[in-house]
Amino acid sequence: MPASEANVARLREQVRATTRNAPGVYLMRGAHGEVLYVGKSTQVRTRLLSYFRLPWPEHRHARMLRETSSIEWEPQPSEFAALLREVRLIRAHLPRYNVRSARPLDKWWVISIARGPAPRLRIQRASAAARSRDVAQIIGPFASRRPLQDALRVLNDALGLRDCSDRVPLHLADVQELFDAMHPAMQRTPRCHRYETRRCLGPCVGATTEYQYRTQLTRAKAVLEGRDDSPQQQLVREMAAASASLSYERAGWLRDRLTALQELEAQLSRVREALARPSFVYAVPGHDGDDRLYLVRHGVVVAEARCQEPGTVNAMQDLERQATQAVPTGALVDRLDELLLVESWFRGRNGAKAIVAETVVGALEGLGLAAAPLN
Ligand code: SF4
Repeated sequence: MPASEANVARLREQVRATTRNAPGVYLMRGAHGEVLYVGKSTQVRTRLLSYFRLPWPEHRHARMLRETSSIEWEPQPSEFAALLREVRLIRAHLPRYNVRSARPLDKWWVISIARGPAPRLRIQRASAAARSRDVAQIIGPFASRRPLQDALRVLNDALGLRDCSDRVPLHLADVQELFDAMHPAMQRTPRCHRYETRRCLGPCVGATTEYQYRTQLTRAKAVLEGRDDSPQQQLVREMAAASASLSYERAGWLRDRLTALQELEAQLSRVREALARPSFVYAVPGHDGDDRLYLVRHGVVVAEARCQEPGTVNAMQDLERQATQAVPTGALVDRLDELLLVESWFRGRNGAKAIVAETVVGALEGLGLAAAPLN
């Protein structure tokens, strides 16, 4: 038997001897201890044994098994606990074989706003925005890039914001050197049609001050945060005027622009809903009586307690009392994967399995543990 097949046989025996059918996560480690893959299942033993029946070399998980030196598993009290642990392990290890989910943020897009005097609204992969040191604010996440491109084009045009590359040099009107009318920047004639058609304030040619540009940027943020719909209102007025003057082609063009902004707003309101959700306690009846409480704040799990352990329950109650209700204006990109997990988990459940309460005591009552050992 080749060495790799002997290794696979050894791993199979190890799985048979040490795992059981319960919710949990498992890690496949390579020869140097590196994590190759993280998975989760409600039936860990069955899931792991299924890997040994995959066709080799066709199936990538069968190939992965030939690189695996050891398999570890951690039992978890519930499917929710296993999902949460899986997301956190993947984020910590970025395993090579978790192709689609190893870098969960790669799947998502955000609108980022950089630091600096005249930043643009930029569409980036959530992972790139999370790594960047220049990013001052992030709005999102969004599942696809295309609708964002259309909507930002309309928003930039409406508010006069730049959309050019970061390599374009900027010359703002309030920079001291530009008081000299002979400065080369003041002599510059922009080739950019956006300035010439009044769709950009022209921070590249000294046509705007930093204050004027920032005022428009603040308006753009207000639109993205759902506090200002003046660009939409303006489009509605222009559409009505175009229709009244029988300019149906222009009215149709304006309608498409309005639709782009409305679709962006629909996506943003879903993100805001998840972020603005106040604190609540989620109680999950656990495997073998290991019931757990999760304190969810602004869409992410911030604390966890075992119901049998008074210390952890009391600690969670303290944390709940300290809860600040300030709503973040942007997603916490480093915890975006968890936010998405929590959001999709609760979207798929309505009451039957989810015991959601406003307080720790309420959650314990939901579990039928009213006599819980709280102070
Ligand atoms: S006018 Fe200048 S700053 Fe504005 S988009 Fe064009 S090149 Fe960029």
